[in-house]
Amino acid sequence: MSDCIFCKIATHEMNAQIVYEDEEFLAFRDIKPAAPVHVLLIPKKHLDSLLSLGAQQGDLAARLLLAAIKVARQLGIAGDGFRTVINTGDNGGQTVHHLHLHLLGGRFMTWPPG
Ligand code: 5GP
Ligand code: ZN
Repeated sequence: MSDCIFCKIATHEMNAQIVYEDEEFLAFRDIKPAAPVHVLLIPKKHLDSLLSLGAQQGDLAARLLLAAIKVARQLGIAGDGFRTVINTGDNGGQTVHHLHLHLLGGRFMTWPPG
């Protein structure tokens, strides 16, 4: 997707503070952090949202979660706990239409979210 900012970050065309990268995923710091640690984990391949996941993607969802655990450990937030969020669609608060998982940590998270 040529006009997708997260695709541009995935191809290093656009700058971001990258904290993790492998063949399939990239994690970078959110530009407007909502917690001391706020990272976005994306598949490099463009998918609009969680709703784009189907049989074609195989177990991408599982690999995404495994990558999130790896990044949480790497950033030192696994011990105290963290939050993972995937906003989907308008009511879900999704503003960037490239599937991404928020990884938030470094402070106590309240519930329910706003
Ligand atoms: P959403 O609301 O779609 O779940 O989350 C999108 C997130 O992307 C927001 O937390 C927002 O701050 C972040 N974001 C939007 N544009 C950029 C950008 O250009 N660079 C980075 N690093 N984060 C961005
Ligand atoms: Zn994209």
